[in-house]
Amino acid sequence: MAALDQRVRDLAARLGLRIGYIAAAGFNNVTGRPIRLIVLHDMEYPERPDGAEWCANFFASGRVRASAHYCVDNDSAVQGVDVEDVAWAAPGANHDGVQVEQAGFAAQSREQWLDPYSRAEMANTAKLVAALCVALDIPARHLTVAQILAGQRGIVAHRDVNAAYHRSDHSDMGPNYPWDVLLPQVQAHIDTLTRPTPTPPPPQEDDMAMTPDERTALAKEIGREVALALLDSPIGAGSDDAPASVGWGLYRIQSELMRIRGIIQQAVSKP
Ligand SMILES: [Zn+2]
Repeated sequence: MAALDQRVRDLAARLGLRIGYIAAAGFNNVTGRPIRLIVLHDMEYPERPDGAEWCANFFASGRVRASAHYCVDNDSAVQGVDVEDVAWAAPGANHDGVQVEQAGFAAQSREQWLDPYSRAEMANTAKLVAALCVALDIPARHLTVAQILAGQRGIVAHRDVNAAYHRSDHSDMGPNYPWDVLLPQVQAHIDTLTRPTPTPPPPQEDDMAMTPDERTALAKEIGREVALALLDSPIGAGSDDAPASVGWGLYRIQSELMRIRGIIQQAVSKP
């Protein structure tokens, strides 16, 4: 598995989607191909929980000359072809596309594409497509036929590829596929994956808690201030004014202690 496949897996895993692997029998082994399209298909297979596994095993069996890079259903996703290789799924957009199969039928109504199974499947498709968009630098937009023919980058259905290049008669995923529900989910996942990792702001001086060294320094400062206050206080100097002097000394000590208490309160009240 190439680095690109691992990158897609890592991105999908960040969105909560794990991707299995069942190697398809048929594909073109190439390197360095330019990829500009994510091509969505439906399997023409019932909405069942084994859809992805069934489809991947079908492509692995060698009984059909077809393959896809990924098969998705309501509870899983399975890779069958490395992203850098060419899967055989949408003639006209095989060489520059990544192919994604989903359980369901092209004839489904919008309501059927939005039933509980389809919504669960779409959630997985959105995660996988978002991972592909980020890994391949493809925007989360549904291309028109004109945009496909103009060589633009984006997401298309197999039927769009056929409308552009007329290389097969496949009509998946039909006209009722709810792109308006899928694309916002894809974009939201892309935003999640590309949001810069928040870094904590550098701590400001005032916000920092005291370190043990700072506590020790403060304690020494307090001791020094108290000692100086005591030395400066004429406690017991002269017997005549002893009561007054003692009173004045106590006042000096008390006021010094209040000043120091203010310093301490300021220091320890910081979060
Ligand atoms: Zn198809």
